[in-house]
Amino acid sequence: MDTDFTVVAAVAAERLASHWHDLAAGELPVLPPGGPGTTWNALPASAPEHGEDLGEILEDTWRTIVPQLVHWQHPDFLGYYPTSNSPASVLAELVTAGLGVQGMLWSTSPAATELEQMVCDWLAKALHLPEAFLHATGRGGGVIQDSASAAVVVALAAALNRASQGRWHTHGTEGRYRVYCTEEANTCVAKSTRLTGVGAVTHVPTLAGTGVMDPAALSVRLDADRAMGRVPAAVVATVGTTVTCAADPVAEIGAVSREHGVWLHVDAAYAGSAALCPEYRYLNDGLEYADSYAVNAHKWMRTGTPCDVLWVADREALTGAMSTAPSYLYNAATAAGRVVDFKDWQIPLGRPMRALKLWYVLRAHGLHGLREAVRHDVRMAGVLAGLIAEEPGFHLVAHRLGLVVFRCDSDERTRELTARLATESALLCTPATVEGRPVLRAAVGSPYTTEGSLTRAWDTLRSHATG
Ligand code: PLP
Repeated sequence: MDTDFTVVAAVAAERLASHWHDLAAGELPVLPPGGPGTTWNALPASAPEHGEDLGEILEDTWRTIVPQLVHWQHPDFLGYYPTSNSPASVLAELVTAGLGVQGMLWSTSPAATELEQMVCDWLAKALHLPEAFLHATGRGGGVIQDSASAAVVVALAAALNRASQGRWHTHGTEGRYRVYCTEEANTCVAKSTRLTGVGAVTHVPTLAGTGVMDPAALSVRLDADRAMGRVPAAVVATVGTTVTCAADPVAEIGAVSREHGVWLHVDAAYAGSAALCPEYRYLNDGLEYADSYAVNAHKWMRTGTPCDVLWVADREALTGAMSTAPSYLYNAATAAGRVVDFKDWQIPLGRPMRALKLWYVLRAHGLHGLREAVRHDVRMAGVLAGLIAEEPGFHLVAHRLGLVVFRCDSDERTRELTARLATESALLCTPATVEGRPVLRAAVGSPYTTEGSLTRAWDTLRSHATG
């Protein structure tokens, strides 16, 4: 290890800055040229016996790894939902890694815990979430998870513990508990019900032609399950479904959930960030009923992955389900009950200092900057939706926030277009199914997407459609 850290870190920063420049200039393909095995075959089969020069390892990163990546920050990356990033976030990750602290307990890094509490409160206020979610109340609070999936698992643990009055702790689920969502909910909900021992998730019908949960059908389902001796534990509503960005009617669902004494978790992984802007605050309607709420700052808040923020209105419901008190973690602050120990708010025991990244992003961009980023992406999606709507042979299926969902005039043509796009390295849209019909999704989230880049992407897409 010859190269001095400060020298090689400066080179890494230059490499990244020039990479971002190349992305913005459209000088890189979105998709890598190599097929399966390309990177595997380019790597030595064993680790080196002796340490190598950091500068050389860095060079090798750009030689061997970077060319075989899908560039999620590319202006023509329109797949899935975005994964965001920014220089502030990258810098914070470097500092976080360099400090190398572990914040499982308040006592293992007091500033890490208190910064996270404050940053979660900052963000809750910026999003205009109900006051109950604030740490400042002493009752609720936010915690940074690695993913929306982990947030659901943690929320379900709290819900199951509450529904079972603590019995879940010792007896598990005994096949009694039920968790409800629609088929449009992200698959992380079904996975979480499996992981928490509930088994299969219970699907609630949607209102015809909307893809959003029917609150009356939910009520009927809850009554029917209770009548059969089952215990409804949680309802998971989605604000911004993965395929079409539809929003379940949270206020109505919340009223039904409360009437039936069922935990309400709201998954707003992508769309939640839009509530930074006053014009999209309607997305928060009904959150006063929510027991927990999660948004992925790493999807649409210029914060690198992972960074999901989960808020709960009753922190004791969460810690009641999750807390452990082994002798080897004894400390006076915990024993006195005066501090938050985030190990009891997440699945792993250990945790990095998660909040620094969000702190840097919120400060460097300011709320104004983050709002403008959301508005930019929404505007760009509007441009694309306009082009699609005007094109004969194309149909807009959904256009919400930064997402445009479309199809061709026949399913066969949509499938052909999807197959041709799979071989196109200059552009990425991802396929899905809406009401049994194939569609393509284009989600805008790169800070480098411009009207010009979108028009070029659209020309590429259209040329594939015409064969
Ligand atoms: N929830 C919704 C609505 C999503 O769209 C997604 C991913 O796109 C997820 C949850 C899963 O997010 P994560 O990868 O953070 O678990």
